[in-house]
Amino acid sequence: MALPDPTALVLGAGPAGLGAAALLARAGARVTCLDPRTGPEQAAAQAEHVHILPPDPGPPLRKAAPELAAALSGAAAPDWHYLRLPEGAARTGPFLSRDAAETALHAAATAAGVTFDYGVRPRALAHDTQFEVAFQDGARRADILVDATGAHRWVADALDALGAQLWLDEIAAPGRYCTWSGALPPEAPRRHAMLWQPPDAEASIYLIARADRRLYVTWRGAGAPEASTGPELAEALSRHGLGAMAEIAAAAGPLARIGYVAPPPRLLGMERPGDPLLPAWFTIGDALVQTPPRFGFGMASVFLQLAELASVLDGGPPEPSLLAAAVRERLAAMAEGVWLQAGVLSVA
Ligand SMILES: Cc1cc2nc3c(=O)[nH]c(=O)nc-3n(C[C@H](O)[C@H](O)[C@H](O)COP(=O)(O)OP(=O)(O)OC[C@H]3O[C@@H](n4cnc5c(N)ncnc54)[C@H](O)[C@@H]3O)c2cc1C
Repeated sequence: MALPDPTALVLGAGPAGLGAAALLARAGARVTCLDPRTGPEQAAAQAEHVHILPPDPGPPLRKAAPELAAALSGAAAPDWHYLRLPEGAARTGPFLSRDAAETALHAAATAAGVTFDYGVRPRALAHDTQFEVAFQDGARRADILVDATGAHRWVADALDALGAQLWLDEIAAPGRYCTWSGALPPEAPRRHAMLWQPPDAEASIYLIARADRRLYVTWRGAGAPEASTGPELAEALSRHGLGAMAEIAAAAGPLARIGYVAPPPRLLGMERPGDPLLPAWFTIGDALVQTPPRFGFGMASVFLQLAELASVLDGGPPEPSLLAAAVRERLAAMAEGVWLQAGVLSVA
């Protein structure tokens, strides 16, 4: 990079922000990562809603950033039981939860020299040759600004206000969800994940029995029952032939039930991608592309983006603005690929 020691400010300490911070620090930047959460121990909103994904973060990340991939693989819990229904192909093996992924990425970023500042919320963005982000108690300047604020897209909104002409492409396919959560008794099976996704995919149902004895069942699509206890939910699951899920759900007591409509998948783009007046910035993670909410896809998309970032940082132009433009271009192309893979876009 042209500056001996460029400073980078990463907004958001979710999986994308932690991974980006680690990679930028590895490439020689002085990185600070900020998050309004009180600390890494305060779960992000969706961490409570457990994420399960296979322990291998994927060949691209293994190749581009072996240390991050190794940290993630090492964080996988060894004894999850995963069952895909109705094929019934049971698989027992290590799975990685979002909490574990975040802990591993936080450790990797700390080891790479990243400084963390939790409990701060940015208020305003300005720039001259650097960005300046204002907070309640002052401001920070940086040569490189990274938006990793997830669906909040704080930087994108702030840049829009500065006239960067960003666009947000929405696909009108919001998902209807119903999630039940409750406690399981000590003798109930733990670390079970089961997914039922019929080929016509109008509805999909998944169950997760966590190590901490929390049960989550999510029903995507129409026809969710009104169940408010484990046995009531078990009865509805049995009616769909989901005996293995019903057996676990039956052990739960009262259930909390939330119905919600998830936002449609979104992709961020720019009208003027090479705006020379803006200092270096890029967007990564859900802030860039939100995939259709499918089991295991969001985090997989984050890992693919981190792999792209790692490879640009390894061989990209040294000047921060050129480097950031190269990152934006590569990540935007990749994001479209994610949509194609997820079946939301089709090739004309
Ligand atoms: C209910 C639900 C279930 C999901 N289930 C799965 C699953 O099973 N498997 C899977 O792979 N994916 C799943 N996903 C998707 C997955 O959670 C996301 O793809 C992933 O968390 C994206 O990581 P991220 O770091 O981009 O964003 P986030 O994880 O959203 O992190 C963003 C961070 O930015 C911080 N932040 C917010 N505003 C600001 C601000 N103004 N300044 C600074 N920081 C800010 C937040 O506090 C947060 O820590 C699920 C998502 C949801 C909502």
